[in-house]
Amino acid sequence: MRVMKFGGTSVGGTAQLRRVVELVEGARRETRVMVVASAVSGITNLLVESAKLAQEGGEVDSALSRFEQTHLTIARELAAGDKLALVPLELGLAAISTELRGLLQGVGLLRECSPSVLAHLSGLGERASCLLLEALMAARKLSPHTVEPREMLICAGDPLQATPRMDEIRSRFAPLRDAQGPGLMLMPGFFGGDERGKTMSLGRGGSDYSAALAAAALDAELLEIWTDVDGIYSADPRLVPEAFPLAEVSFEEAMELAYFGAKVLHPKTISPARERGIPVRVCNSFRPEHPGTLVTDSAAPPDHPVRGLSFLKDVALINIAGAGLKGVPGTAARVFAAMARTGISVVLITQGSSECSISFCVQQSESAAAVHALESEFEVEREAGKVDTIESQGQLAVLSIVGDGMRHRVGVAGTFFKGLAEVGCSIAAIAQGSSERSISAVITEADGPRAMGHVHHRYFGTTEVVELLVAGVGSVGGELMRQLRQQAPHLKAQGVDLRVCAISNSRNGLIEAAGISLEHWKERLESSHAPASLEAFREQARAKRPGRPIFVDCTSSEDVALAYPSLLASGLHVVTANKKANAGRMAHWRAIRETASRHQRRFLYETNVGAALPVIDTLKNMLRTGDQVHRIDGILSGSLSFILGLTEQGVPLSQAVGTAMEKRFTEPDPRDDLQGTDVARKVLILARELGREVELEQVSLESLLPEDFDASGPLDAFLARLPSIDAAFQRRVERLRDEGQVLRYVGSVGPDGCAVGLKAVPMENPLAAVKGGENALSFLSERYSPTPLVIRGYGAGAAVTASGVLADVLRLVEGPLT
Ligand code: ADP
Ligand code: ASP
Ligand code: MG
Repeated sequence: MRVMKFGGTSVGGTAQLRRVVELVEGARRETRVMVVASAVSGITNLLVESAKLAQEGGEVDSALSRFEQTHLTIARELAAGDKLALVPLELGLAAISTELRGLLQGVGLLRECSPSVLAHLSGLGERASCLLLEALMAARKLSPHTVEPREMLICAGDPLQATPRMDEIRSRFAPLRDAQGPGLMLMPGFFGGDERGKTMSLGRGGSDYSAALAAAALDAELLEIWTDVDGIYSADPRLVPEAFPLAEVSFEEAMELAYFGAKVLHPKTISPARERGIPVRVCNSFRPEHPGTLVTDSAAPPDHPVRGLSFLKDVALINIAGAGLKGVPGTAARVFAAMARTGISVVLITQGSSECSISFCVQQSESAAAVHALESEFEVEREAGKVDTIESQGQLAVLSIVGDGMRHRVGVAGTFFKGLAEVGCSIAAIAQGSSERSISAVITEADGPRAMGHVHHRYFGTTEVVELLVAGVGSVGGELMRQLRQQAPHLKAQGVDLRVCAISNSRNGLIEAAGISLEHWKERLESSHAPASLEAFREQARAKRPGRPIFVDCTSSEDVALAYPSLLASGLHVVTANKKANAGRMAHWRAIRETASRHQRRFLYETNVGAALPVIDTLKNMLRTGDQVHRIDGILSGSLSFILGLTEQGVPLSQAVGTAMEKRFTEPDPRDDLQGTDVARKVLILARELGREVELEQVSLESLLPEDFDASGPLDAFLARLPSIDAAFQRRVERLRDEGQVLRYVGSVGPDGCAVGLKAVPMENPLAAVKGGENALSFLSERYSPTPLVIRGYGAGAAVTASGVLADVLRLVEGPLT
């Protein structure tokens, strides 16, 4: 015996119904079959809403005609292709519509819709869809035996959330269980009946439960839940596009996933099947060839601690607190007894360790009733001041991770909570199932999709969306865009989906949440009329979407550097090639780090010194591991090293500067390089890494330009004056060459402070060899002594700088952990 349950979308139209009958025909060739059907999708909602409308005295004609037309249209379309008996089918459907009309009229007159009436009325959709199926099956010579749930699925309790009486159900099903019983049966899902045959609803989504009860009552070998997705997914596929179908899950895992919101199964479905050891297959009626998910006792041991994630919306957190609750026996019992009396089911419970507070989650719609019930239960204590808070917090949701493999595994919860923190999602409460099979975090509902996507990535390593907001698309920024375009496909293959969602230059800004074309960004930015605005970037970061936004500063703007704290506070990581922040005032330097740490954001600036050379990272690692750096010396300006290299070949200084500018080796204003300011900033940044509290004015600075040379005024005028010092400079270079020395522009951080300036260096000194745009740094430390640690390589130019920026961005993509 096999029970096959078809959900709303699986019976939602002519083609689908034909598909269902084909699937049933196939199964019928192998075994006896019971089909359980849902209402056509959308119909149960329509019924529930029309009852509510009638109760409020509203007009229900249009709802009625939608109900009628939906089924009649399907019936006529079926009859057009299959030779079915349309007249009796239309009569049957008309009878159901008449029943609905009568019920709605009654509700309208009384302005009351009792639970019992609602249970009856909301089950009419299942009865209608079963009539359609029955007619089609008959036309295909299948002639099912129709089972009346009100006489078979006997329940007690709340007519809208009925409790099945399994013993009674089994005894009613006994004749059908018999091997001589009918070969094909058809039963509407979603409801049963009480002792007297009155309709008892199994709750929304309850057709799955009907099918499970029937499977248990019939001793079925298999229960199939036919739906519109390829089985139970690692997460709700509507929320997490990267979610994937699970081949196998255990009964316990399926129960937890369903309980915490995986809508694909009604939470009570598994229990009857598990009790009788009946495997459950969840499969796709639109893609029957896909094996779907098998839920069994003997699910293969998970290769991963977490099997899946689920998300339960519309939850409120109720909190009762007061010093007078501490150590008082029976408080928790009274809290939950009050909920039980009011018929409120509790989703999740947590308790503060002080015993002064108890928090629990209920459905949002029940939160006011829950607060009210607690207020009357603890009235005396409230008057006596022993309970001071009874409150509810709404618009919450429960995000849970579920998996048998979580038991006794270290670090699973850590990854969960770290993942939530990484997307800036704060947690209102936490609960762990006693079976160690699930961990739940109560979060703001609006954070759900973002949090789900990211936590899913953390565990399963599926594609992670990383959003970049790039300020400045000049030489470094433009090159970064080029590298991104080149690397994006390779990175995507490795699971990182880098998207540039915002760019700006000094005039325009462009924001496209889905990602700006890396091919046509220039045209798009040019034609954008939006101004470049950091506020728009901050807004973009605050918008709750998947992805981990990173602000990338490729400007050399002081204003942009000043905005880092506010950008970090709005949830952005900051990666910068701009030195102005780290070389700004010490107070700002500190503020950036404090804000980053408070908001758990990262601030990365490897390209501030030596472009992409691993300078900052190396230095940090030396310090972290306990080394003591005594001094740092280096050629820190690729532009000056390039310019000085040319002058050694006899090129006049002004011409060398021009060439460096053309090659974009200099800062936008080459005076930043020539006067030593740029190197002084780098030295300052290094000194601060060493823990020194230094300001830029404290760096002793000697310009490459002679002291009496006027370097002020507009850039053009400066460049025009520059040739006037060519001859003198050339003489100096030649004189030194005769003495076996070369000029190098050196920056150092030593015991007595920071200095930058021109130095005559003997040919045999390692620094003498550094030219043509190279940088070199030597770190003399406790461990690297007497031979210093040396880092050398190209340290200027848009290409290497942009690659360093990209490397920082990728440092923020940590990839999946356990
Ligand atoms: P049916 O009408 O067939 O009972 P439902 O709409 O009740 O279908 O349930 C199927 C839907 O459940 C899917 O379309 C999917 O959007 C949603 N869903 C939520 N969580 C999951 C999950 N973990 N795996 C699969 N589907 C899920
Ligand atoms: N049709 C009912 C509902 O929408 C039952 C079900 O689909 O399982 O809730
Ligand atoms: Mg369902």
